[in-house]
Amino acid sequence: MGSQMMAPLARTPEDWASLAPELGGRSFHGKQIFRWLHARGVLDASRMTDLPGSMREALGKMGIAPEAEILTVRRSSDDTRKMLLRVAGGFTIETVLIPGVVRGKIGHPSPVEQDADASAAAEDDDDDATAQPDVVRVTQCVSTQVGCAMGCVFCASGVAGWKRNLGPDEIALQVILGRAQLDPHEQLRNVVYMGMGEPLHNYEATAQSLRLLTHPDGIGLSSRRVTVSTSGLIPEIERLGKDFDGHIGLAISLHAADDETRSRLMPINKKYPLAKLMDALRAYPLPKRRRITIEYTLVAGKNDTVDEARKLVRLLRGLPVKVNLIPMNPIEASSLGPTSSGGVLSFQKILCDAGYSCFIRRRRGDDVSAACGQLALLGEKPKVRVNRT
Ligand code: SAH
Ligand code: SF4
Repeated sequence: MGSQMMAPLARTPEDWASLAPELGGRSFHGKQIFRWLHARGVLDASRMTDLPGSMREALGKMGIAPEAEILTVRRSSDDTRKMLLRVAGGFTIETVLIPGVVRGKIGHPSPVEQDADASAAAEDDDDDATAQPDVVRVTQCVSTQVGCAMGCVFCASGVAGWKRNLGPDEIALQVILGRAQLDPHEQLRNVVYMGMGEPLHNYEATAQSLRLLTHPDGIGLSSRRVTVSTSGLIPEIERLGKDFDGHIGLAISLHAADDETRSRLMPINKKYPLAKLMDALRAYPLPKRRRITIEYTLVAGKNDTVDEARKLVRLLRGLPVKVNLIPMNPIEASSLGPTSSGGVLSFQKILCDAGYSCFIRRRRGDDVSAACGQLALLGEKPKVRVNRT
């Protein structure tokens, strides 16, 4: 795509540099524009004080920000924040900010607490010696589509169906606006592509947004702190591995260890069955000491027996993985529900005993309907049945 055609917020500094002469500037201005937009989150050209006036005017005329507005920001009792954005076409999308658990206060955390939220998918080898003790690290969960075409039976986005893809600018905007919501003691640390939509079903936009978020002149996230979660689109997993040399974190929504069960829960399994998916994971060019996250939503009576846990142990053998168990969050459109807490612990024990790192993901933000699979469409407020495990 020519840079003129690209949405302004989707452009890299290099794209802006080649466009700068048309805007009456020089190529070095490209980096400055990108910095204003992505590093400082300034979307108003008139505030870009180090640009020549004529350039600011040209940018202003062009219109830089995507057509989007913040509708609401709801704060949960656990400080998780869910932001509702209206995007072009009148659709509503959601992004969630999840503050991490403050370390060093509770001694050695239990496996449940250790992997208490989605950030765990992105902080596998957390060796940042420069981390400040008082800073709360925040994980942001972004959406990539309005709705989702994959049709997983336990997921609100899947039940609703696909409406449209988001552009790279709309994905990056979620982070720019999300970061502006943080409290002074909070720092954006991880971004997980676990909101509404299947990121790899919107590959180009997802890939471009990854370039934007990890660009050192912008938000500058380390690629290992960015995780893309997928229901298992094999060709795009290969493409992601190649395009980013395996440096982007990968999470796989597995949810079953045999084809029959998985196809029942996730129709995409009929197209990309488990044996082939496992081959694709083995081929992913993962850097040393990194692991793939396996997500396993436990649905009562569907995929949660100890036999199924044993099957999972066999399926994953030899793969560098850690497993996140997610007791299903109830959704309005389905009578399926979560496995009991005893059932979750028995399932976890089998994986732990077999030598896997296996965590139970604590529910975050469910009082504002921000938990996995509950993200709504068109601003509808799903009623959440309180059914704690
Ligand atoms: N489409 C991508 C990413 C978004 S979903 C994917 O499926 O991987 C993020 C995670 O939440 C996925 O593992 C998904 O399967 C899970 N999920 C969806 N609905 C859920 C629900 N109702 N309860 C618990 N987890 C759910
Ligand atoms: Fe789509 Fe993921 Fe929901 Fe499946 S779980 S329907 S892939 S968003």
